[in-house]
Amino acid sequence: VRVLFADQHGVLRGKTIVADGLASVFRNGMAVTSTLLLKDTSHRTVFPVWGGDIGFGAGLLTGAGDIMMVPDPASFRVLPWSPRSGYLLCDLFHKDGAPIPFSSRSILRKAVERLEAGGRRLVCGLEVEFHVYRLDDPKLDHADGGMPGSPPQTSLLSQGYQYLTDARYDALEPVMDALRRACLQLGLPVRSMEAEFGPSQCEFTFEPDGAMAHADAMMLFRMAAKQVCARMGLHATFMCRPKVENGMASGWHLHQSVVDAASGDNLFIPGTDGVLSTTASGWIAGLLDHAAETCLLTTPTVNGYKRYQAFQLAPDRVQWGRDNKGAMIRGLMAPGDKASRFENRVAEPAANPYLYFASQILCGLDGIERALTAPPPVESPYESDAVLLPKSLIAAIERFETSGFYREALGEDVVSYLTRIKRAEWDRYLMTVSEWEQREYFSLF
Ligand code: GLN
Ligand code: MG
Ligand code: MG
Ligand code: MG
Repeated sequence: VRVLFADQHGVLRGKTIVADGLASVFRNGMAVTSTLLLKDTSHRTVFPVWGGDIGFGAGLLTGAGDIMMVPDPASFRVLPWSPRSGYLLCDLFHKDGAPIPFSSRSILRKAVERLEAGGRRLVCGLEVEFHVYRLDDPKLDHADGGMPGSPPQTSLLSQGYQYLTDARYDALEPVMDALRRACLQLGLPVRSMEAEFGPSQCEFTFEPDGAMAHADAMMLFRMAAKQVCARMGLHATFMCRPKVENGMASGWHLHQSVVDAASGDNLFIPGTDGVLSTTASGWIAGLLDHAAETCLLTTPTVNGYKRYQAFQLAPDRVQWGRDNKGAMIRGLMAPGDKASRFENRVAEPAANPYLYFASQILCGLDGIERALTAPPPVESPYESDAVLLPKSLIAAIERFETSGFYREALGEDVVSYLTRIKRAEWDRYLMTVSEWEQREYFSLF
């Protein structure tokens, strides 16, 4: 049984226990090193997991002692693609039973509890785009013992620019169907599949469910997509904008409505005049108000900022519109419509689902608690005077780092921890010379 936890990047890590040892994992938890430092071939740090070795001071996790993975029994699944294998998702604790503040699943749980304490629940619908390529040499994917190395050699699985054509869906069908079956066996509520704009790009959507259920589902979905595809000689990537000619970026749209916890009534349904409900208005206003400082949680990679471009059905500024796919928030609220909701289109599919969903709850709730009102919707999102989303990861890091809101809502420790690991990622990025720089300057100067 694979005993796993979601690290701060939203990457599953853990160990596999033989079945006979499982009872003890339920009784005692399973120890795992608190500081996992994976090295790339030049032995630079690539993914500091718990921060100790990147210079955290006293009081935080230093050195590399053990922490405990404590399984959530409800997460147990049989992995359909891996014979006689099970899956268990864990929460993280110190050995004395104290919860680990950086554990992203705990961060979401706390946000969900805060929302529920006020008698509200968030209902989410998940819509995720990703790319699937042919793996020219399957060995390359796992070369280097699974350490980050050179990207796998891939070729296109399908040509782009036949958005939603059935012919293209048919070409993708063997893969889509294998993924759909795996999802159903895992109990994931698949709703639809489609061929997206870009070459090799596709999309899955899931039925609405609670925030924690959906965040857990995203972890399983990314795992299933990557592992099922790898077994078919394919490579699925949730990287936002892979380097492909005529490629399109992948988004992760999160449909949201807030319901009354007791009655289940959708609090986003507008009155007959169509004007936003107080809850919808406050929630949207909160998301807009904190959008820039939230980007680190919705768009946590260098690559994700290459998606925020005009006229690509991706947002580039902070605003909302009615059924407008160029706006960050696309309102889908109509009088009498029980499915009244909006979709936030800001995130990239590589985001940590727990941090992403927690940010939506914290911002939305803040908008309601401060009785904010949403501005008027925009008609021409790429021509509006709304403020732009951060242009780069470092801009997002700086907004998050100086955010009084997140220092209050997540705690100083969590903010400085996430800032630190993301700065390390940005610094690694700055150390590399890109193909663009080479082309731009090498012969010219
Ligand atoms: N790929 C777009 C995005 O980045 C969405 C495309 C679509 O809505 N069909 O969000
Ligand atoms: Mg869609
Ligand atoms: Mg889409
Ligand atoms: Mg969408």
